[in-house]
Amino acid sequence: METLETFLKQLSTPVLVCQQDNPSGEWRIQSWNPAFQSMWDGSQSDLIGKTPDHLIQVDARAQAPLIQLKTIPPETHLLMHTGLIYPASQQALRVKVKYDWIEDGRLLIWIEPFYEDMALTQAHADFVSTVSHEFRTPLTSIKGFADTLLRYGTNLDTEQQKRFISIIKHQADRLTRLVENLLTVSKIGAQRNDVIFRPIGVKRSIERIVQSIEAKLPEPRRFKIEIPENLPEVWADPDKFEQVLMNLIDNGAKYSYPHSEVTIRAFVQPEHPDQIQIDVSDQGVGIPEEHLPNIFNKFSRIDNPLTREVEGTGLGLYITKSLTHAMGGQISVVSTLDKGSTFTVVLPVASPQRQTETHLHEGLEAKS
Ligand code: ADP
Repeated sequence: METLETFLKQLSTPVLVCQQDNPSGEWRIQSWNPAFQSMWDGSQSDLIGKTPDHLIQVDARAQAPLIQLKTIPPETHLLMHTGLIYPASQQALRVKVKYDWIEDGRLLIWIEPFYEDMALTQAHADFVSTVSHEFRTPLTSIKGFADTLLRYGTNLDTEQQKRFISIIKHQADRLTRLVENLLTVSKIGAQRNDVIFRPIGVKRSIERIVQSIEAKLPEPRRFKIEIPENLPEVWADPDKFEQVLMNLIDNGAKYSYPHSEVTIRAFVQPEHPDQIQIDVSDQGVGIPEEHLPNIFNKFSRIDNPLTREVEGTGLGLYITKSLTHAMGGQISVVSTLDKGSTFTVVLPVASPQRQTETHLHEGLEAKS
């Protein structure tokens, strides 16, 4: 007996131990292990002597409804179904329930929460609905303006025609960006994101990025680049580096008001001289504290006066973080609501040692 109790105590899976009641033949909860207690988080009197169906709401599709338990002969060793359990202090948990009759006639009920599967299913459903919506919006607009041009084109003056065509182009560009983002996300998911390290001049690269962002902003922002001429090169993948900084600087501009300032600073970290820190700071809407932990998750778009106005998919920061990590870097954010945000990326310096190591490694890979 003691061995069973000791064994259950060490398990991280929640387990209930039941005994058959005489003469009713019903199974009643006799004890449970600490893993169950921490999941249940309620009082003993809610459990002891109760029938398991008091606790577990059986999934309608269950193959072994608890209600039939007393009719299942002990030889039927293991049965499984899904169900809901209502812990004292939390929302209902979806669980996998397994029954295991042990030799001394007791019944063990193994309860495995599967919030991860559920979260994934939910995330997948959210993903599909967000993506469909993101596709539908530009497509509706393209179709609408193309229809108008076909039907009334001859009645429209050249300026109007040009305006409609440029809207169509703008929306097509938006679709292209969305598809590119989705492809990057699927590559990240499949871990097929090869990194090609090269030394990169941060100042030059950021100047180029800022120029291309400035060109497409509908209203001006002030960009300030504070990067010393003699900053060592960073050791990163040029395309990924550009995508990371492009996303951060673009967001800094998107989520702030016209004429405000976006500052990009880069310096060698004083306490880690082999790391370069790049800060992108804006004076924009900021991010509420409670959203900061999720800001780098897929599709996290936070409602603010500007998210409703500016286009976005909520994939940018997820991609940015994944690419930064793929390059061996770190990313973080500090933000104050209505004051602004600073996104910080830290990447290694392109030291001769790093370059030699990578070339050696690439050489070995090429040979093998
Ligand atoms: P997108 O911009 O396409 O919505 P991102 O993943 O780049 O997606 O950003 C996710 C969300 O984080 C944005 O919708 C916005 O609410 C918030 N956000 C990102 N950058 C900033 C910023 N610099 N200032 C304020 N909010 C930001």
